[in-house]
Amino acid sequence: MNDTPLMCPSSPWDTPDGKVFGIVAGTVEKPEVHYLKETLDATPELVAKLNGEDPGEVLRVAAPCAKTACKHHDGEAHQCTLVSRIVSTVPIMFVGRAPCAIRSTCLWWAQEGAEACKRCPKVVTHPRVIADTDLALAAAPPKQVTDLSA
Ligand code: SF4
Repeated sequence: MNDTPLMCPSSPWDTPDGKVFGIVAGTVEKPEVHYLKETLDATPELVAKLNGEDPGEVLRVAAPCAKTACKHHDGEAHQCTLVSRIVSTVPIMFVGRAPCAIRSTCLWWAQEGAEACKRCPKVVTHPRVIADTDLALAAAPPKQVTDLSA
């Protein structure tokens, strides 16, 4: 049995054991994630190469799903509500599936399949502004975290 934990592909860049799998290119209005062939550790050396850019705006990082400690997690349904909203509100960006080094462990892929991958290249984990109205709607969490001990 494979007990590898599913990875959230929109984790904070400094999450312990986080793996960088994408770099955000494009513009603030139209971001576009470029996927890496192999993941990288988000080391201080890598961050230093960003020339002062906010790593949360530039790096896409995967780390084990935080489950009920995350404001987007539906504890009862054991689902990520963020990717559910992305799939239901954000238009397709990419026909097919982006080449992605974390697909086999990606929570969004496990939950929503190719529909998540068609929209994933638009996602910026911590944007200064969200120019895309559909993405802004999708990013609004359904609840605030009140219990981080679970
Ligand atoms: S949703 Fe698809 S493209 Fe995005 S990280 Fe997961 S497997 Fe990769």
